[in-house]
Amino acid sequence: MRKTQLVSCFIVINSLVASQFARAADPTDRDRPMISPTEAMSLLKEGNSRFTAGNGQHPHESTDERAYIAKYSYENPDAISLGMTSEQAAKRRAELTKSQHPFAIILSCSDSRVPPEIVFDQGLGDLFGVRVAGNVLNDEGLGSIEYGVDVLGARLILVLGHQSCGAVDAAMKTVAAKGKAPGHIQSLVAAIKPVVDSTRKADLDTMIKANVKYVVDALRSSKPILKTKIDSNDVQVVGGYYTLDTGAVTFLDGK
Ligand SMILES: [Zn+2]
Repeated sequence: MRKTQLVSCFIVINSLVASQFARAADPTDRDRPMISPTEAMSLLKEGNSRFTAGNGQHPHESTDERAYIAKYSYENPDAISLGMTSEQAAKRRAELTKSQHPFAIILSCSDSRVPPEIVFDQGLGDLFGVRVAGNVLNDEGLGSIEYGVDVLGARLILVLGHQSCGAVDAAMKTVAAKGKAPGHIQSLVAAIKPVVDSTRKADLDTMIKANVKYVVDALRSSKPILKTKIDSNDVQVVGGYYTLDTGAVTFLDGK
């Protein structure tokens, strides 16, 4: 078979496989890269509504879908666009049409009761996740988020705190007692301490929301990658709060 025929054959097969998963009415269709922040917010809200209503669709989790992802998607670590012009970056993104295209990045707590894919009713390839107790921001987490934005093309970043967060509670109590948490847990306390210091005598819920806002602000002012994209409205950072009782996520501000 000649090369052109092979290519045509591949395209036909690829189209057939792709069409198998085509979801004309499903906005989470993975073949649509560069979903806008507004659209990404809608997807998260719709997914959380399905979850709270007990009507989860568990999208993109079938064995067929998993096989498709394994066969047809890849990541290109050479694609980091830092230093590229916007035209070069756009071209690079276009070349990545078969890579993963998570529509949102979620920085959330490690808490076992708040897994983002479940509470937003999303599946494989939908969310780019960074999880660390207290949803604090460290360099590795920031690098991961920048990767999600700059290489994978996600345009919405959600910082998700939650009711009864043990990390924030521990930070609050440790700082109040002028103590030190054991081992490396102290690093979480240190990360949350500025929030505790600025919200003295606040209740835990207020402090959890202040901690989300603190991380949101840190991301919005993060140079060199995020701030520029956020200032130009290419990327949006929002804060959210998950209520354990109801399963509902409340978005803390609209920006
Ligand atoms: Zn937590």
